[in-house]
Amino acid sequence: MPQLDWANLPFGYIKTDYNVRSYYKDGKWGDIEVSDSEYIHMHMAATCLHYGQEAFEGQKAFRCPDGKIRMFRIEENARRLQNTARGLLMPEVPTELFVEMAKRVVKLNERFVPPYESGASLYLRPLLIGMSAEIGVRPSQEYLFIIMVSPVGPYFKGGFHTNDYAIVRNYDRAAPHGTGAYKVGGNYAASLAANKVAHEAGFACEIYLDAREHKYIEEIGAANFFGVRGNTYITPKSTSILPSITNASMRQLAADLGFNVEVRPVPEDELTTFDEAGAVGTAAVISPIGRIVDLDTGKEYVISKDGEPGPVCKQLYTKFRNIQYGLEPDVHGWITFVD
Ligand SMILES: *Cc1c(COP(=O)(O)O)cnc(C)c1O
Repeated sequence: MPQLDWANLPFGYIKTDYNVRSYYKDGKWGDIEVSDSEYIHMHMAATCLHYGQEAFEGQKAFRCPDGKIRMFRIEENARRLQNTARGLLMPEVPTELFVEMAKRVVKLNERFVPPYESGASLYLRPLLIGMSAEIGVRPSQEYLFIIMVSPVGPYFKGGFHTNDYAIVRNYDRAAPHGTGAYKVGGNYAASLAANKVAHEAGFACEIYLDAREHKYIEEIGAANFFGVRGNTYITPKSTSILPSITNASMRQLAADLGFNVEVRPVPEDELTTFDEAGAVGTAAVISPIGRIVDLDTGKEYVISKDGEPGPVCKQLYTKFRNIQYGLEPDVHGWITFVD
């Protein structure tokens, strides 16, 4: 294998040795299959292609200072995929099968798990798709659950820093009773145009407001939002937000550290009151916010006066990473070892 420059890898696709698959047919999941092909053989009328019967997950495996490989709250990814599957009338992948396949695919691609010092990790992408041919709009009879992996570089290449974000009022990611709480490709397709607008205006990513009133903060691209005021961690509540496992974990860690935790609607106006804020998700863990600009009203919210991450962001980020890397005790039972 050509030597990969782990620390400078992008968040992109790199071919590895294997992926693992299980097919759902006749009402049950089949045996785990190991494949060295990067391709899927499917019918051109498969429901995933035409009607968006597609769900996915994201997760990372880390090589740790003690030499072991750890995954973080993998059962929660399984549960969230089950919730998404119910939402799109797809069969649920049992937690046991999900975890077994995740461990297998990491083990099989062990040589692609980056060394600890690089800050890089092995990204896991579980994918659930409807496979049988339909022309009428109805759920597929057959499904494929696949987990592919790719090594990815560290999110913060130049050290932990803030990013600026743009509120987009002319785009909604998801509606109150839509699919926002499900991790489906359709939500991402719906976000591409807004993401382009934010990028072209020089921002890291777009921020969505609630689709009903355009008053409350919803999500930051494919990450959740949180704000910190004094001793309180505040994160939005909405039926169209994707429940981030990283955010749920941060709420727990914040509570452990003695913070109050509030989960409630967060009006855009409240941005003027936060001492710190961040985007939270698997990719960055925490991406601290410098400035937020509402592209349509022109309002600007300066969250970090000096452009540096605040102390609470640093504290939560460090605690979280230490647990992921086995440097602090795993008191909540969040870690799964790959052996
Ligand atoms: C995946 C995702 C997140 C982050 O969830 P994590 O479990 O923390 O990785 C947040 N928002 C959206 C829209 C997502 O798809």
